[in-house]
Amino acid sequence: MTTNRTFTMIKPDAVENGHIGAILEKITAAGFKIIAMKYTQLSVRDAQEFYAIHKERPFFGELVEFMTRGPIVSAILEKENAVEDFRALIGATNPAEAAEGTIRKMFATDIAENAIHGSDSDANAAIEGAFHFSGREIY
Ligand code: GDP
Ligand code: MG
Repeated sequence: MTTNRTFTMIKPDAVENGHIGAILEKITAAGFKIIAMKYTQLSVRDAQEFYAIHKERPFFGELVEFMTRGPIVSAILEKENAVEDFRALIGATNPAEAAEGTIRKMFATDIAENAIHGSDSDANAAIEGAFHFSGREIY
C-alpha cells in the first residue's frame, strides 16, 4: 500500500546554499510526483525522535545540531518503486562516494552535511511521512 511512496527532506545545508529549486527539479525530472510538501524547521526534539535509530552513534549530537540549525523542505513523493529509485537518485551517504549526477554528488558538502534525506525502506517511508504530515496534508 505504501510501496509507491518515499519521504525526503532537503537538509539545512542545501537550503542555505540555495539549492531547493535545483533539487526539486531533479526530483520531478526523475518522475517523482510531490504529494505533500512543506518548508519548516525541526526542533531538537523532532530531530532526536526522527533520527532515534542513530542515537548510539558517535555523530548523533552533531546530526541533531545540523538538522535543526535552519529550515528544511520536507516532502512525500510518489512513484513506482519509490524508495529504491529515490535512494539511487540521491546517491551514497558520503558524497565523495556518490555516483556522478546524483543529488548528493552535485549538492552535498560532506558525509554529515549531505543535502538530502531519503527513506531506506517502505516501512520507514510510512513512519517518516506520518511524522511530518497529517492525512489532510497529503494530496
Ligand atoms: P543515509 O541513510 O544515507 O542518510 O545515512 P545514515 O542513515 O547512515 O545516516 C543518517 C545521516 O546522518 C546522514 O545522512 C548524515 O547526515 C549523518 N551522518 C552519517 N554518517 C555521519 C558521520 O560519520 N558524521 C556525521 N557528523 N554525520 C553523519
Ligand atoms: Mg539512513
